[in-house]
Amino acid sequence: MKVTYICDLCGQPQETVEIDNVEIEKLGINTLTPAEKEDIIKYNDEQGLLLYSLCPSCFEEKFVQGPGWSDL
Ligand SMILES: [Zn+2]
Repeated sequence: MKVTYICDLCGQPQETVEIDNVEIEKLGINTLTPAEKEDIIKYNDEQGLLLYSLCPSCFEEKFVQGPGWSDL
């Protein structure tokens, strides 16, 4: 299955990887609640499974500058 990582903040696609269902389990998705899954996982015919996470620059920005926690 094709999985595309997309930044939750800037919306930029980060990388597309081809993984099988077993590996999806390894991503830790199975530890999320159903509501959390719906929030970070979408499906799109073109890009496959869309996984929302922070890209390195947004991650850095968020943790260096600190604000934005109220949005979570
Ligand atoms: Zn970003």
